[in-house]
Amino acid sequence: MSLPPRLLEGLSTLLGPRGLVTDGADLAPYLKEQRGRLTSQAQAVARPDTTASCAAVVRLCAEAGVAIVPQGGNTGLVGGSVAGEGELVLSLDRMTRIRSIDPQNFTLTCDAGCLLAQVQKAATDVGRLFPLSLAAEGSCRIGGVLSTNAGGVGVLRYGPARDLCLGLEVVLPDGRIWDGLRALGKDNTGYALRHLFIGAEGTLGIITGAVLKLFPAPRETATAFCALDALPGMLDLLALARDRGGDTVTAFEVLPRMGLEAAIAHLPGGRDPLETPHPWYALVEMTSARADGGLSDVLTTTLAEALERGIIADATVAASRDQAASLWALRECLSDAQKPLGGSIKHDVSVPTAQVPAFIEVASAAVLQAMPGIRPCPFGHLGDGNIHFNLTQPEGMDRQTFLDRWEEMNRIVHDIVTAMGGSISAEHGIGLFKVNELARHKGQVELDMMRAIKTALDPKNTLNPGKILPPA
Ligand SMILES: Cc1cc2nc3c(=O)[nH]c(=O)nc-3n(C[C@H](O)[C@H](O)[C@H](O)COP(=O)(O)OP(=O)(O)OC[C@H]3O[C@@H](n4cnc5c(N)ncnc54)[C@H](O)[C@@H]3O)c2cc1C
Repeated sequence: MSLPPRLLEGLSTLLGPRGLVTDGADLAPYLKEQRGRLTSQAQAVARPDTTASCAAVVRLCAEAGVAIVPQGGNTGLVGGSVAGEGELVLSLDRMTRIRSIDPQNFTLTCDAGCLLAQVQKAATDVGRLFPLSLAAEGSCRIGGVLSTNAGGVGVLRYGPARDLCLGLEVVLPDGRIWDGLRALGKDNTGYALRHLFIGAEGTLGIITGAVLKLFPAPRETATAFCALDALPGMLDLLALARDRGGDTVTAFEVLPRMGLEAAIAHLPGGRDPLETPHPWYALVEMTSARADGGLSDVLTTTLAEALERGIIADATVAASRDQAASLWALRECLSDAQKPLGGSIKHDVSVPTAQVPAFIEVASAAVLQAMPGIRPCPFGHLGDGNIHFNLTQPEGMDRQTFLDRWEEMNRIVHDIVTAMGGSISAEHGIGLFKVNELARHKGQVELDMMRAIKTALDPKNTLNPGKILPPA
């Protein structure tokens, strides 16, 4: 099924030559899917450069009955920005203006096509911090980040994207523009509509602008890499760090020995930060807006206490920014580092933080029982209860034979997650890939409410159809 020629003509007149992409080579980056599991079928990409022209595109599509797939940086990991045949991709990549920054109000207002890194830099330039940080920050865009309610490494202290947004501007499925760009810390005037669009993965409206919260810039950072001989000790270490460091604890990441070895092999010049191997590691970071040098002392004395109490077996504190960056590199390369080990079946799940060690133990035993030799490599944001429970194929197994069991492994892991009161998607969203699993794990009442909202805002189902919600 192809796009109606009249629609393409209308879009071309509206957007001009830079605003409509139909050529194969130029289309390619918009059609790829991060995990390589699908290819988008879109025949054209609309690239409006203003909210008004975005709304005009939506109106033209609504008249033609053509579905729209909004796209930011196309870095999403669940197929949410993949278009089917006869659908139009609407990219925000020409809407990249920082509209205003108010350091005294601690807010920044921007187009939704701004790169996350661009927003971070704009905040830094005025002595403020926009704290959302993730490995794709050079490519993902604010509209995508908000639409997936992205997390990353600072959630423990600052919360996910949802907590960092005060106001939105949204083009609705009928082409009307909702101006909700309020820079208010308090606004109790009925339903908090912005929260409908945050995390909606483009199924309810197209985010075109946002008011984001800024914070005092950190002037001191202390980073440590700790080794533990037993996973439950992570909870004691996290609690101790928060008791002693209070709100300065910004990140608390966990990785297993297998992950560290893969990272060392992957990184040029990679080396073990500690002298002897241990089964588990935690990367702990504290930051403070003060610059009096006290933070390193807090972290060092906290770790000394943890060592004395037998919570940790060893630790090293970064002595410089470069050393801290090297420690972070070991954590951040983990997805790529696992690739040479063979196929990897992914899970992005959360359970209450206090349940993480039990979850890892139970889920690892369950997948090993289902597939002897499978190699669990759980890592991630332990401080948020969010674990990337990645499963590497057994040594010697055929890669495709392993990957063919993706859904079976998902079911085993997700059932354990649900039994523990967790979520089958902690930060990547549902997109296309988890639609069936969502249907299995959400209750009927919750699904009914979600459908009611979708139908009320998008009665013709023209915005990102088939994403998040399973067919009724
Ligand atoms: C290396 C790597 C590391 C990552 N690390 C993390 C991480 O730590 N934490 C995390 O949460 N995610 C992570 N991700 C996933 C991804 O980067 C985030 O989900 C990101 O927020 C997606 O932004 P994007 O602009 O690329 O959105 P896209 O991929 O373009 O779109 C994602 C979804 O949002 C919708 N959408 C996009 N823009 C709009 C808009 N303006 N209005 C309405 N809907 C829109 C799309 O239709 C789609 O459903 C990572 C991805 C990679 C590749």
